[in-house]
Amino acid sequence: MSSTEAAKPNRDVIVGIDLGTTNSLVAIADERGPRVLVAPGERALLPSAVRYEGSADKPTTVVGDDAKERAVEFPLTTITSVKRLMGRSIADAAPDLAYLPYTVVEGEHATARVLLPLAGGSRVVSPQEVSGTVLGALKRRAEAVLGHAVSRAVVTVPAYFDDAQRQATRDAGRLAGLEVVRIVNEPTAAALAYGIGLERDASRNRKQDSVVAVFDLGGGTFDVSILRLTPAQVEGETSFFQVISTAGDTRLGGDDIDHALVALFTRELRERGWLDRGADPSPQVRRALKQFAEEIKHRLSAQEQARIRIDVGDGSGSRVYERTITRDELEAMSAELIGRAMRACETALRDASRELGARTQEDARRMIDAVVLVGGSTRMPLVRRRVAEFFGLEPYTAIDPDQVVALGAAVQGSLLSGGSRGSLLLDVVPLSLGIETVGGAVAKLVMRNAPVPARAVEMFSTSVDGQTSIKLAVYQGEREMASDCRLLGEFHLGGLAPMPAGIPQVEVEFLVDANGVLRVSAMERRTGRRASIQVIPNHGLTREEVDRMERESIAHAREDMTRHRVTDLIVNARLDIRWIEDRLTRLGERIEPAYRDELRGHVSRLRDLVDRAASDWQSVNPDEIHRAKELLDRSSVRLQELSIVESLRSRDA
Ligand code: AMP
Repeated sequence: MSSTEAAKPNRDVIVGIDLGTTNSLVAIADERGPRVLVAPGERALLPSAVRYEGSADKPTTVVGDDAKERAVEFPLTTITSVKRLMGRSIADAAPDLAYLPYTVVEGEHATARVLLPLAGGSRVVSPQEVSGTVLGALKRRAEAVLGHAVSRAVVTVPAYFDDAQRQATRDAGRLAGLEVVRIVNEPTAAALAYGIGLERDASRNRKQDSVVAVFDLGGGTFDVSILRLTPAQVEGETSFFQVISTAGDTRLGGDDIDHALVALFTRELRERGWLDRGADPSPQVRRALKQFAEEIKHRLSAQEQARIRIDVGDGSGSRVYERTITRDELEAMSAELIGRAMRACETALRDASRELGARTQEDARRMIDAVVLVGGSTRMPLVRRRVAEFFGLEPYTAIDPDQVVALGAAVQGSLLSGGSRGSLLLDVVPLSLGIETVGGAVAKLVMRNAPVPARAVEMFSTSVDGQTSIKLAVYQGEREMASDCRLLGEFHLGGLAPMPAGIPQVEVEFLVDANGVLRVSAMERRTGRRASIQVIPNHGLTREEVDRMERESIAHAREDMTRHRVTDLIVNARLDIRWIEDRLTRLGERIEPAYRDELRGHVSRLRDLVDRAASDWQSVNPDEIHRAKELLDRSSVRLQELSIVESLRSRDA
């Protein structure tokens, strides 16, 4: 995009940037809603890693994936985790130095600087310059995607950053050619991304304060913040967020879990005699094991067990380390680390109690209205469970925990540039919400224009015998068939006891809360198995789309209704046919031949209609199917009686 550089900066656009310790992102909130800016073929996350190359007087830089991947090769010239040095004195940074592979030296006013050994000598750069390089890469990425220059940004920082650290972040922006129009606390941004604190309706503004907990567990750092939100009194304004307590550990995160796994692998490899006892594995082996560990950990967030296989020999297959790791095992290994995070939550809650006017910690806990999850490690089911238990609330997970801070920064940017929140903020559900049923129709649970908060519950069952897992697909839209609606998300309810079709009772609940977050949960009554999903139906939905979907639903109303009816008739008729055939076989000789023939005749006529309808729904009149089904139903009354008698007899026998 060579024209980009010359393009006039669009002063209206303010991007949101999450400048992270390990990864950074840039996002925007426009009429399509908040979204991360990413060029095709790129990953949304830009590793906050910068490699310096070339000569000391004119170095060049490589930013992102390449720098991160080759960090081991260039330990002294690849700068990672520079956020830990931002705005800090050499004394402040001392505890971190042991973990940084590059050289940190003292600069002016006792500040921490990085010393780079380059061709022709060494060069000293400030953490601001390094961060500025990362910000510059994000700026270019945003410009490439948007097609115009970008000059203003909202940048987030941890709640505990002091003035010097915040100022350093602004300076980094300036070095990248970005005016940092506001520095926002990361937990505040996360809350904004969920629409918390964005008022929709002035009449509802005079609400009480609310309290939000933000739990942020990333790769290497953990913090938890308790925010108080004082609602805005004027429509369109943001509420006032105040961080009333924060606690955490700057050396706690997913990396620790990876290390625990690596320690396990190493121990077992030693036991087999495939790794020297005592000696540390080589950096290459360690890196491979760490990568493996991380991959396994990710898989175990979605599945109950994962299998690993590493050829640690010469590739001939003589030394293949194979093992299955279960989620339970991983959770046992992680329990202590997560326990530390939970203790920090207690500290944060205790510190917040006074400010909240709560007499006990328990009172303070009850005052929390929402819990937001941030950071990749919050994808771990164990973390979600422990957080939910601790706060007594199901945390918000609808937004990707890696993106939530950047998206919130973009929302703030959009508000500052005079835009709206950038997506539909309504007091009502703009389009109906439902789930796909057998045959591809949508059963709507929450109807269009229902006021939020909204709740609906409906019972569903299975359509196939012995089903042990049910897929639930959540749709939005006014049309009758799923293929004409917008898919919001899918999840599986597994672990069901095999039962005949129609017997399991699955209770599906839809809950749209005041912030517009939809939680869909499914529970099978007999096994008590549960599964759920969270989505924000309005994200990515524009006013035009809502209008279009509404228009289409009117245009297709009659046709859609017929199709939905045909679909339901097909499903029900097939269940009837199956039941009757099953009874005919079971009762065998006990049914008089004439009656058997009569039933077979009805079944065959109905089956014929249903098969035709299934291949082309328009080829059959639904009334005709309905009539054929009724005939069969009426004539099968006697079969039901026979069947009851038979089952009583076999019970007595
Ligand atoms: P962040 O610093 O927020 O980018 O978080 C990165 C951390 O999240 C790393 O330790 C990742 O291994 C971890 N992570 C990312 N995805 C998952 C997942 N699906 N399950 C468990 N941990 C994850």
